[in-house]
Amino acid sequence: MRFDIMTLFPDMVNYILSESIIGRARKNNHIDVRLYNIRDYSEDKHRRVDDTPYGGGKGMLMMAPPIYNCYSAILESQRAEGYTAETRRVVYMSPAGKVLTQKKAEELSHVDNLVILCGHYEGVDRRIIDEIVDEEISIGDYVLTGGEIPACILVDAVARLVDGVLSDPECHEKESISSGMLEYPQYTRPYEFHGVKVPDVLISGHHANIDKWRDETARELTEQNRPDLLENKD
Ligand code: SAM
Repeated sequence: MRFDIMTLFPDMVNYILSESIIGRARKNNHIDVRLYNIRDYSEDKHRRVDDTPYGGGKGMLMMAPPIYNCYSAILESQRAEGYTAETRRVVYMSPAGKVLTQKKAEELSHVDNLVILCGHYEGVDRRIIDEIVDEEISIGDYVLTGGEIPACILVDAVARLVDGVLSDPECHEKESISSGMLEYPQYTRPYEFHGVKVPDVLISGHHANIDKWRDETARELTEQNRPDLLENKD
């Protein structure tokens, strides 16, 4: 799967997406992440990319032309590699979008190419959203300074569902949210930590009892922290 990310701060995104499992998936070519600095596509000799909003108001807005030029360069490079409009989805990270869910991440993991636009300052000129963006995605009901961290979150959530990125696909099937409930509590060595021992059932070797305990504790935790998940479950 190919990700094309348009941003004013490519180093910031690249840094996060070069570490750990996602960094390894890039090195092993399970995913292809390409970064574009929108400033490189400015038509202004000072490489300007923002301006004051029409009608007044605080802050600066990212202008449409540099973003459009950047997007055109992405399309050209995609065409050369055989990608088409059918294989592509364009997302704008925005607090005004629909909030990202595991279901949305699963849906996007089946797309061949995800193009992500990161806003900054007061956001972007509406005309570029209307012209190139398929959907706006928020990572939660709060406002951040830029779309770079949200883009990393989206790439991480989607990429780990792509074949080959996780060593064992079961890793995500039983996880919180994916399973429709929160995950059961987990323990590793040492057996005793600060006077608290691992629950007996987990060292009993009785797999049916372990599964039962995990189901029960997952349900308890879900009832306590996210009862809304149980309302939507079957
Ligand atoms: N003026 C915009 C509004 O009220 O909708 C907010 C702009 S925000 C300060 C700057 C950029 O950060 C946005 O263009 C967006 O790309 C990103 N951003 C901020 N909060 C976000 C969130 N919760 N989810 C996704 N992106 C977010």
